[in-house]
Amino acid sequence: MYYAEQSRRGVGSAVVIDGSIYLIDCGEGVAARYRQAGLGPPGFTHGLEDLQAVFFSHLHSDHTIGYPGLLVAGFLNGLRNRTEPIQIYGPGPRGSVKDMFADRPANILVNPQNPMPGTADLTRDLLAAYATDLNERALRRGSGANPEASFDARDIQLPAGIEYELGGDPAPEMEPFAVHEDANVRVLATLVDHRPAFPAFGFRFETPDGVIVFSGDTRPTPNVIRLARGADILVHEVIAVPAMERLLVEPAARARLGDIASSHTAADAVGSVASAAGVTKLVLSPVLPPTADDSDFDIVRATFAGEIVVGRDLDQIAVGR
Ligand SMILES: [Zn+2]
Repeated sequence: MYYAEQSRRGVGSAVVIDGSIYLIDCGEGVAARYRQAGLGPPGFTHGLEDLQAVFFSHLHSDHTIGYPGLLVAGFLNGLRNRTEPIQIYGPGPRGSVKDMFADRPANILVNPQNPMPGTADLTRDLLAAYATDLNERALRRGSGANPEASFDARDIQLPAGIEYELGGDPAPEMEPFAVHEDANVRVLATLVDHRPAFPAFGFRFETPDGVIVFSGDTRPTPNVIRLARGADILVHEVIAVPAMERLLVEPAARARLGDIASSHTAADAVGSVASAAGVTKLVLSPVLPPTADDSDFDIVRATFAGEIVVGRDLDQIAVGR
């Protein structure tokens, strides 16, 4: 199993503002970590009362595999105590797969009638797949939260004029654009470069206490620098290539390392992103591979003079008050 190292389970972060909770990505183990972090009211039938919104950076399974648990077990965890649905934001459908595989025809194509579903389709189809469980339990209880009404999932609409062309740049230079606003926070997004994934987003949370930016999965791109300009905290993904080499001992796996590394940001490049953006603090997360040692990131210090945190599960970092 990929996430064997228990100090780092799947990808997920939370921004907490005056008790309101915003999740960024839902990887493996996110529900357990949510509980362990003390988010939401305690108790078996509580938890999701204070979750306002979930933001998916992209729809790779290591960022979404915990999502069915959130959707399906939600009725046990406080959904019935809510009056407003949980807002879900994420990439829209990519559309055709032809653009992606033009130069290497796919001999496997899952769900050809909708091969690249977006966040709204993902949500609808997950609830449909679990309908037996959801309906059996609803029939037995006779009341409770309707999961289909409890999650308001929408695809993030790209600004007019932003389109992806075959072989083109999946993250053309752009101004960050607003995707969510409420009494606590304004959330902006930008396209990042996690090719061949498209669209893939980074997010900027502007709160009364400070600004927190999440890069999502990306190679270095000017869009992240623009998104993170002057932020208090930049949570940036990172790949430790030497640690990957220690992990990938089989030649076939090792041969793919260049391909993997090209869609991520290496430890010797992430500091420059943080410096160019002028952020106060750099938090390295998600860490690839999860088994990497802190010493694999000593090199970040060479290009960033601010505070550096090598992310581990359940780290809590304060901003402002
Ligand atoms: Zn990814």
